[in-house]
Amino acid sequence: MISSISAYRKFLILVIMVALAGAISLSTGTADQAGPSARDRVADKLSVSVAGDSVSVADSSNEKSQATGPFICDYCKDTIRGQYIEIDGKYYHPIHFLCHECGKPIAHTSFYKKDGHYFCADCYAKLFKERCALCGEPIMDNHVIFEGTHYHDSCFRKVHVCALCGEFIDGPYIEDFWGNKYHAYHRDKAPSCDYCGRFISDELTGGAVEYDDGRLICGLCYASAVSERPAAEKILLETRDRLDRLGIHIVHPEIRLHLVDRHKLAEITRHADNRHMGHTRFTRVEETGRPTSMEFDIYILHGMPRYYFTMIAAHELMHVWQFINAPDSNDASLCEGSCNYASYLVLKTYSAPEIDYLIHNLVNDQDEIYGEGFRRVKKFADDRGLTEWLALLRSSRHFPEGY
Ligand SMILES: [Zn+2]
Ligand SMILES: [Zn+2]
Ligand SMILES: [Zn+2]
Ligand SMILES: [Zn+2]
Ligand SMILES: [Zn+2]
Ligand SMILES: [Zn+2]
Repeated sequence: MISSISAYRKFLILVIMVALAGAISLSTGTADQAGPSARDRVADKLSVSVAGDSVSVADSSNEKSQATGPFICDYCKDTIRGQYIEIDGKYYHPIHFLCHECGKPIAHTSFYKKDGHYFCADCYAKLFKERCALCGEPIMDNHVIFEGTHYHDSCFRKVHVCALCGEFIDGPYIEDFWGNKYHAYHRDKAPSCDYCGRFISDELTGGAVEYDDGRLICGLCYASAVSERPAAEKILLETRDRLDRLGIHIVHPEIRLHLVDRHKLAEITRHADNRHMGHTRFTRVEETGRPTSMEFDIYILHGMPRYYFTMIAAHELMHVWQFINAPDSNDASLCEGSCNYASYLVLKTYSAPEIDYLIHNLVNDQDEIYGEGFRRVKKFADDRGLTEWLALLRSSRHFPEGY
């Protein structure tokens, strides 16, 4: 029992409005069971404001309410003499108002309520609070939720940084296929890799190499660049083998492979665009007006990353297959769409992040002939199977009804 000052004392009782999981600061009141004043208590109601998870106790209002004793401690069931606290219609000795988890008294500290129990701040954080995806510590106050992931404000500033300049991104940003984020203002200004789309930087891509024909290849892609004939021949053979296992048999003794640069390729295709990475030339050898044999020359850009080279090799080999098996001058969408579909099938036999990127580009290609053609062929093959697709190519110049 604390020292009594006057017979008619005012007691402070807190009426607490508990928001579901708000921290609550609570003061104690004093119950004096001896005098007549016990029946005449005045409660100064404090309002607890909850904003998100941060809770503050505001100034007392003038609202009055009546409370009467004696009170029984809900924990020890003894009559309370002296200080008590009241919460949710129950009364406690201050030393008996305990954290549900660790059992420490929490009358004089902030505490939290959850599912009808009260917890000290530490236990509450440990048990219920969201954890920061970067540092793993519980998050107690205002924080950032980014793409469904929670971070401390300060941790988010370390995570949400531009992969190019290393600064925090505090505005619009762009994201590449690989999950790198960049300030939006780098778009169209900073150079990017022709083969993976990453912006070039020492840190992110290990710099870049610029070929004589103007192509820019980042350090990551350059690591697997196919620049020498023997390596290129090997990949072409492996690609031909993978097509064969898919049922796309290219029965022809010799296919000549040429590694070229962009200028040479433009000369051969008569297209000075950046779209072409390869080309196949078909020659029918005739003697005295009678066809005797066929010759194939495949031209592919030198120095492309390994899987990029594989994709182009599969495309060109599918042209060879069509030269041998399909009627001349078939529909361009059917022809190029089928070549891209062959690339897709071969790429699917590998697994690597670069493969996902290339497949993503094939599937989302907006080109009317290559992109649309691919999607139409894929739909046909999904519906009817690879054998039917090849049968279609053998027998028809056009897509059938419905594709
Ligand atoms: Zn008690
Ligand atoms: Zn506790
Ligand atoms: Zn953190
Ligand atoms: Zn930046
Ligand atoms: Zn690259
Ligand atoms: Zn083609």
